[in-house]
Amino acid sequence: MVHQAGGCLCGANRYAVRSEPARVTVCHCRFCQRATGSAFLVEPIFSKSDFEHTNGELKTYAHRSEGSGKLIYIHFCETCGTKLFLTLERFTEIVAVFAGTFDDPNWFERTPENSKQIYLGVAQKGTVIPAGIETFIEHFNAADGQPSEATVYAEPKTIGF
Ligand SMILES: [Zn+2]
Ligand SMILES: [Zn+2]
Repeated sequence: MVHQAGGCLCGANRYAVRSEPARVTVCHCRFCQRATGSAFLVEPIFSKSDFEHTNGELKTYAHRSEGSGKLIYIHFCETCGTKLFLTLERFTEIVAVFAGTFDDPNWFERTPENSKQIYLGVAQKGTVIPAGIETFIEHFNAADGQPSEATVYAEPKTIGF
Protein backbone atom coordinates (compact mmCIF):
# COMPACT_ATOMS: atom_id res chain seq x y z
CA MET A 1 0.00 0.00 0.00
CA VAL A 2 1.24 3.45 -0.91
CA HIS A 3 2.12 5.77 1.93
CA GLN A 4 4.04 8.89 1.01
CA ALA A 5 4.31 12.03 3.09
CA GLY A 6 5.37 15.59 2.64
CA GLY A 7 5.43 18.91 4.40
CA CYS A 8 6.42 22.56 4.47
CA LEU A 9 9.85 24.12 4.99
CA CYS A 10 9.40 24.80 8.71
CA GLY A 11 7.92 21.34 9.35
CA ALA A 12 4.72 22.53 11.07
CA ASN A 13 2.43 21.29 8.28
CA ARG A 14 2.50 17.66 7.14
CA TYR A 15 0.36 15.61 4.77
CA ALA A 16 0.19 12.05 3.47
CA VAL A 17 -1.22 10.25 0.43
CA ARG A 18 -2.42 6.66 0.18
CA SER A 19 -2.37 6.09 -3.60
CA GLU A 20 -0.40 6.67 -6.74
CA PRO A 21 -1.42 9.93 -8.43
CA ALA A 22 -4.41 9.54 -10.75
CA ARG A 23 -2.39 11.65 -13.20
CA VAL A 24 0.48 14.11 -13.23
CA THR A 25 0.19 17.50 -14.90
CA VAL A 26 3.37 19.45 -15.51
CA CYS A 27 2.05 22.98 -15.93
CA HIS A 28 3.98 25.92 -17.37
CA CYS A 29 1.11 28.45 -17.10
CA ARG A 30 1.60 31.92 -15.60
CA PHE A 31 -0.53 31.02 -12.55
CA CYS A 32 1.82 28.12 -11.75
CA GLN A 33 4.91 30.22 -12.47
CA ARG A 34 3.74 32.93 -10.07
CA ALA A 35 2.50 30.52 -7.41
CA THR A 36 5.76 28.56 -7.37
CA GLY A 37 8.09 31.45 -8.21
CA SER A 38 9.68 28.96 -10.58
CA ALA A 39 9.45 27.78 -14.19
CA PHE A 40 6.66 25.21 -13.81
CA LEU A 41 4.58 23.18 -11.38
CA VAL A 42 4.79 19.39 -11.17
CA GLU A 43 1.23 18.65 -10.10
CA PRO A 44 0.28 15.09 -9.13
CA ILE A 45 -3.49 14.74 -8.72
CA PHE A 46 -5.05 12.62 -5.96
CA SER A 47 -8.58 11.76 -4.95
CA LYS A 48 -9.51 13.65 -1.76
CA SER A 49 -10.18 10.31 -0.06
CA ASP A 50 -6.51 9.32 -0.60
CA PHE A 51 -5.11 12.56 0.81
CA GLU A 52 -4.81 13.67 4.43
CA HIS A 53 -3.48 16.87 6.00
CA THR A 54 -1.96 15.26 9.09
CA ASN A 55 -0.31 18.10 11.04
CA GLY A 56 -0.42 21.85 11.43
CA GLU A 57 -2.60 24.80 10.55
CA LEU A 58 -2.97 26.02 7.00
CA LYS A 59 -3.97 29.33 5.52
CA THR A 60 -5.97 29.37 2.29
CA TYR A 61 -5.80 31.87 -0.55
CA ALA A 62 -8.76 31.76 -2.96
CA HIS A 63 -7.79 32.83 -6.48
CA ARG A 64 -10.34 33.34 -9.26
CA SER A 65 -9.18 31.59 -12.42
CA GLU A 66 -9.09 33.86 -15.48
CA GLY A 67 -9.90 30.87 -17.66
CA SER A 68 -12.85 29.24 -15.89
CA GLY A 69 -13.98 32.03 -13.55
CA LYS A 70 -13.96 29.42 -10.74
CA LEU A 71 -11.96 29.59 -7.52
CA ILE A 72 -8.65 27.85 -6.99
CA TYR A 73 -7.71 27.42 -3.32
CA ILE A 74 -4.00 27.50 -2.47
CA HIS A 75 -3.28 25.93 0.93
CA PHE A 76 -0.07 27.23 2.51
CA CYS A 77 1.82 27.40 5.80
CA GLU A 78 1.43 30.80 7.44
CA THR A 79 4.75 30.47 9.23
CA CYS A 80 7.07 29.63 6.34
CA GLY A 81 4.88 30.42 3.30
CA THR A 82 5.32 27.04 1.64
CA LYS A 83 2.41 26.15 -0.68
CA LEU A 84 1.48 22.52 -0.12
CA PHE A 85 -1.58 21.74 -2.25
CA LEU A 86 -4.46 23.11 -4.31
CA THR A 87 -8.15 22.38 -4.21
CA LEU A 88 -10.64 23.52 -6.82
CA GLU A 89 -14.17 24.89 -6.79
CA ARG A 90 -14.68 23.31 -10.21
CA PHE A 91 -13.45 19.76 -9.33
CA THR A 92 -14.31 19.20 -5.68
CA GLU A 93 -13.10 15.57 -5.40
CA ILE A 94 -9.42 16.14 -6.16
CA VAL A 95 -6.31 17.51 -4.48
CA ALA A 96 -3.35 18.72 -6.53
CA VAL A 97 -0.08 18.59 -4.61
CA PHE A 98 2.93 20.89 -5.13
CA ALA A 99 5.23 17.93 -5.83
CA GLY A 100 8.37 19.60 -4.50
CA THR A 101 6.92 19.38 -0.99
CA PHE A 102 7.00 15.56 -0.89
CA ASP A 103 9.76 14.15 1.31
CA ASP A 104 10.75 12.20 -1.81
CA PRO A 105 9.47 14.11 -4.87
CA ASN A 106 10.65 11.28 -7.13
CA TRP A 107 8.51 8.55 -5.57
CA PHE A 108 5.94 8.60 -8.41
CA GLU A 109 6.55 8.09 -12.13
CA ARG A 110 5.93 10.62 -14.91
CA THR A 111 5.22 8.45 -17.94
CA PRO A 112 3.48 8.90 -21.31
CA GLU A 113 0.54 7.03 -19.74
CA ASN A 114 0.06 9.18 -16.64
CA SER A 115 1.45 12.62 -17.47
CA LYS A 116 0.98 15.64 -19.70
CA GLN A 117 2.93 18.86 -20.20
CA ILE A 118 0.64 21.88 -20.58
CA TYR A 119 0.84 25.61 -21.39
CA LEU A 120 4.07 25.28 -23.39
CA GLY A 121 3.04 28.52 -25.13
CA VAL A 122 4.23 30.51 -22.09
CA ALA A 123 7.01 28.18 -20.86
CA GLN A 124 10.23 29.84 -19.72
CA LYS A 125 13.40 29.89 -21.81
CA GLY A 126 15.70 26.98 -21.17
CA THR A 127 12.96 24.68 -19.83
CA VAL A 128 13.53 21.18 -21.21
CA ILE A 129 10.41 19.27 -22.28
CA PRO A 130 10.90 15.49 -22.23
CA ALA A 131 10.42 13.38 -25.34
CA GLY A 132 7.51 10.99 -25.68
CA ILE A 133 5.04 12.92 -23.50
CA GLU A 134 1.89 14.63 -24.79
CA THR A 135 2.35 18.40 -24.75
CA PHE A 136 -0.13 21.22 -25.30
CA ILE A 137 0.23 24.92 -26.14
CA GLU A 138 -2.48 25.67 -23.57
CA HIS A 139 -4.71 23.30 -21.56
CA PHE A 140 -5.42 19.76 -22.79
CA ASN A 141 -9.07 20.75 -22.97
CA ALA A 142 -10.08 23.84 -24.90
CA ALA A 143 -12.43 26.37 -23.26
CA ASP A 144 -15.40 24.62 -24.92
CA GLY A 145 -14.42 21.32 -23.26
CA GLN A 146 -13.17 19.67 -26.46
CA PRO A 147 -9.76 17.94 -26.34
CA SER A 148 -6.91 20.11 -27.67
CA GLU A 149 -4.37 18.87 -30.18
CA ALA A 150 -1.29 17.27 -28.61
CA THR A 151 2.32 17.41 -29.82
CA VAL A 152 4.71 14.63 -28.83
CA TYR A 153 8.40 15.41 -29.32
CA ALA A 154 10.71 12.61 -30.52
CA GLU A 155 13.70 14.29 -28.84
CA PRO A 156 13.78 16.44 -25.70
CA LYS A 157 12.85 20.02 -26.62
CA THR A 158 14.43 23.07 -25.02
CA ILE A 159 12.10 26.08 -24.94
CA GLY A 160 13.49 29.18 -26.65
CA PHE A 161 16.33 27.42 -28.49
ZN1 LIG B 1 5.79 25.83 7.47
ZN1 LIG C 1 -0.68 25.99 -14.30
